[in-house]
Amino acid sequence: MSIDERLQKGYRTFKEQAFERDRQIYEDLATHGQTPHTLVIACSDSRVLVQQILTAGPGDLFVVRNVAAMVPPYERDSGYHGTSAAIEFAVTALEVDNIVVLGHAGCGGVASVVDRNMPEDSFVGQWMRPLHNWLKHYGHLTAEDPATRKRLLERAAVYLSIQNLKSFPFVAERVSAGTLALEGLLFNIHTGDLSEVIAKHDTAFSLRSVLASSD
Ligand SMILES: [Zn+2]
Repeated sequence: MSIDERLQKGYRTFKEQAFERDRQIYEDLATHGQTPHTLVIACSDSRVLVQQILTAGPGDLFVVRNVAAMVPPYERDSGYHGTSAAIEFAVTALEVDNIVVLGHAGCGGVASVVDRNMPEDSFVGQWMRPLHNWLKHYGHLTAEDPATRKRLLERAAVYLSIQNLKSFPFVAERVSAGTLALEGLLFNIHTGDLSEVIAKHDTAFSLRSVLASSD
C-alpha cells in the first residue's frame, strides 16, 4: 500500500520548492543544531498554521501542539508528561527567549467543556480538567449562553496555561531574571486577527491586537 496521494503530492511540492529554496538553511541547521527563539504551545487544530501565522522558517520556532493549547500544571509524578517535557527541553536546553501560548477562536477542545460531549474519563475529558474546574469555580459568574461561555473559556484557557507555566520552577526563575517572556495569544480563524489575552482578573479578559504596539 502506498502513502495517501494528498500527502505524497504535498511532500513533492515541499521538496521541489520550499526545501530547494531553504536548502542552505536546512544544511546549516542540520550541521550546527537548532537555536529557536520561541517555544509555541498551540492547539492541534488543522486551521491554526503556526509557522504560517508567524511567518517563521526552519529553526525559528520550537512547537508543541495538543488539544486546546493547554499547559498542564507542574506535576512531578511518573505520568507521561509530553507537553511538560517539551517545555523543559525548550527552556533548559534550547534556552528560548519566549514562550507563546497560542489559543484560537472556535476551539473544539474548549467547546467540549461547555457542551459536555466528551466523557469525563476520556483522554480529552481528562486533559481539559483544568478548564472544567475553572468553569465549576466561576461558572456562576459567566453568561449561560453557550456561545458566549465558549468565547470566555477560550480566553480563560490561554490565561490558565500562562498561570500553569509559572508553576514550572525553571520557567519562573527565568521570568523573574528577565531572560524569558511569556505571551498568551488568541488567533481568530474568521478574521486572521492575532491578539494578546490580557487578564483583568481570574474571570475577565480583554484582547489587544498584536499589531497595536507597532502601528
Ligand atoms: Zn483548538
